[in-house]
Amino acid sequence: MQKEQDKQNQNMITLSVRDFVEFAYQHGSIDTRFGGASRAREGAMIHRRLQKSMGSSYQAEVTLKYQRIFHNHVFNLWGRADGVVFRNGIPVLVDEIKTTTRNVMMISENDYPEYFAQARTYAWMLCSENRLKEIEVQLTFYQVPSGTIRQIKEKDSFKSLCEYVDKMFQDWSKWINLRDQLTIQRNNSIRNMPFPFEGWRKGQHQIASAVYRTIEKKGKLVCQAPTGIGKTMGILIGTLHALARGNGNRIYYATARTTGAEAVEKALTCLQERSGLSLRYVTFVAKDKICLKETRKCNPDDCQFADHFYDRVKPAVYELLRAEQKFDSQKLISASKKYCLCPFELSLYLGQWCDVIIGDYNYIYDPVIALQGLNESENGVKTILLVDEAHHLVERVRDMYSNHLICKKNFLEIRKKVRQINGFYKALTKTADYLEQERVALTDHDELWHVEKQFPNELLQHLRRVAQAGDGMISQFTQQRKSIDEKVLDFYFEIRRILVICDSYGEESRTSFAVSDDHSDIHIGIHCLDPASAIFDSTQMCQSVIYFSATLSPLVYFKRFLGGTQMSLVNLDSPYNADHFLVLTADQISTRYKYRQQTFKQISEMLIAFVQGHKGNYLFYFPSYAYMNLVYQDFIGKAKREPLNIIRQNQEMSSEEKEAYLDQFQQDQKKSLVGFAILGSSFGESIDLTGESLIGVAIIGVGLPMISRENDMLRDYFQNQNHQGYNYAYMYPGFSKVLQAMGRVIRTEVDRGVALLIDDRYKERRYQELFPKYINTPEHVRNISELRERLDAFWGKH
Ligand code: SF4
Repeated sequence: MQKEQDKQNQNMITLSVRDFVEFAYQHGSIDTRFGGASRAREGAMIHRRLQKSMGSSYQAEVTLKYQRIFHNHVFNLWGRADGVVFRNGIPVLVDEIKTTTRNVMMISENDYPEYFAQARTYAWMLCSENRLKEIEVQLTFYQVPSGTIRQIKEKDSFKSLCEYVDKMFQDWSKWINLRDQLTIQRNNSIRNMPFPFEGWRKGQHQIASAVYRTIEKKGKLVCQAPTGIGKTMGILIGTLHALARGNGNRIYYATARTTGAEAVEKALTCLQERSGLSLRYVTFVAKDKICLKETRKCNPDDCQFADHFYDRVKPAVYELLRAEQKFDSQKLISASKKYCLCPFELSLYLGQWCDVIIGDYNYIYDPVIALQGLNESENGVKTILLVDEAHHLVERVRDMYSNHLICKKNFLEIRKKVRQINGFYKALTKTADYLEQERVALTDHDELWHVEKQFPNELLQHLRRVAQAGDGMISQFTQQRKSIDEKVLDFYFEIRRILVICDSYGEESRTSFAVSDDHSDIHIGIHCLDPASAIFDSTQMCQSVIYFSATLSPLVYFKRFLGGTQMSLVNLDSPYNADHFLVLTADQISTRYKYRQQTFKQISEMLIAFVQGHKGNYLFYFPSYAYMNLVYQDFIGKAKREPLNIIRQNQEMSSEEKEAYLDQFQQDQKKSLVGFAILGSSFGESIDLTGESLIGVAIIGVGLPMISRENDMLRDYFQNQNHQGYNYAYMYPGFSKVLQAMGRVIRTEVDRGVALLIDDRYKERRYQELFPKYINTPEHVRNISELRERLDAFWGKH
């Protein structure tokens, strides 16, 4: 029965005409020198203008759907032709409009075979539907910014169109057959897949079942699963079983950091090696990290891996899919060298055919970077989205929809580089003039910080003109085969990004105007205060979404942002014995900014007593570098005679230095080791120091984000929304970092350890209520002797 279902699912292929033809006719090289940014808005406006000018028999935006059975596969093609001319109700011409920066007089079919293929496919659909013997096919090219129009027209018989599209169907069939074969193997292997370990951990089966049930119902789930449950494996197993039953056809595992990706790769490899799972996965690694060249210049002149990429990628991917199951960064690099293909673009291409994609949040949530194909149901793609470390998502998406780069200085700096480029130069000057006017007006009114609900329309128009002039510049450089200064191009892309953000500007957005301290400049910032609707919209098309993390406290706060009332909730207990973890609060000491000078010595004394309690490795977390250094200096003075190794995080650590810092925790230490670190940094979470490598953490403060105008803006917004302004802007995001840091201590069931939380606010009920139920109630220590007593008692038992 299930196999029958598999067969039916496989036989049906839904595709947009655009994807259908692009797959067959994609060609050429990767070349980022000449823009390539989304000009959808201008494109759409030009389309509308041209469509209006085509006369009354021209019908614009004609929706076409056609089903074709080809070699046992049912292809459902759909699309919207830009225009169809009807005569007596019968279609006689199909028109495709394309905007380009190239000289339209020089264009031939070889330049854009996919455009011709798109128009001919629509023509074939119209002929099939209306039983026509022939039809005219027209390509209307519009050159930006000159506005030159060229129409290329041909008359095609139905017979020739059939032969033409059949070649594309043939090509698709070959790939669909491969996909079907691999999917059958995948589903059979999942159905017969034994659990890879001796037994389920406590809570692991529960999480797997909850995930499975949610996906079956096409639902959304928020899951808090403490360390030790084996949540990555549990969630994957639940998802894979749902996948094998025909729920969705692809998994996207979204991670906040690279280290998150490694854990999924490890779990999938384990299932492949121990349980016989047959499945293809690919990891999207950031371009900068995986690039094979010293300097990243993505164009055929500077990079052999970019040259003719699209001509060579298909056969390579076909071969790779047949031969390999895992495409992690190592595999991608070796495959890229073998086939001479850019590893980053290769991973994106493989992503279209793999069962699991592991990648950053960006590819789903970022309004500019998000990959359309990952989140589309119209093309029959049903993605199951798994979002790891979901406590990061609110902040990350908020950043994706905000921008702080509009200032006069930036415009003037770029202007210096484009003196020769008239239109662009002028547009930059006008925007800089506008910003100057705003600066003067605000300075005159002594309004050095000012917030508005709307983004200023005048500025929006200026930015649009800069973007349009940027298109002109790109067109000019393309024609002259000259490359654009990288800074100028980056600036142009940034303007495009701001325009995309402006498109989603809504009730929850604000614009800030800040005059610089020396009054010489103005910064205009866009702030997305509430990313809930952006999060919702980005995942609407997914079959199912599962958000999970070890620390989602308070759950109601995260639930509100991640999906509100539509979500199911699972809140699991820790599998570890709570008595193995002692949490102490030194809540007589204030760490508030104004008391820091008075209390830092008390803190370092407390920290000395803390590490004297038991020999081992410790991490001390601080809210800022300045505060950390203040305590550090005092601590090293006091610790001179202590058997201690002391290391400290610094602001400019390279990834090698960070590794070396963490490595010290893994080595056999003759003395205790103390690491000073910043709360919320990469040492504050996602590090796995098991057993003796970390036995205690001290957290100074309650993790509050810095008080700032931006955070106050958030506070005011939520105060207005739900009277939770301070909690949403400061308290909850801060406490999430505290929980993450505490979570570094107990990583396995044999671990024992302590956390010392220093701040007088920990005695307040509102904080006490935020501690998760799976830890014992924090114990209060009033002074050093009480601290020693509690530590002696704890370490005496363990
Ligand atoms: S290998 Fe590097 S430079 Fe070449 S196309 Fe890829 S990312 Fe660009």
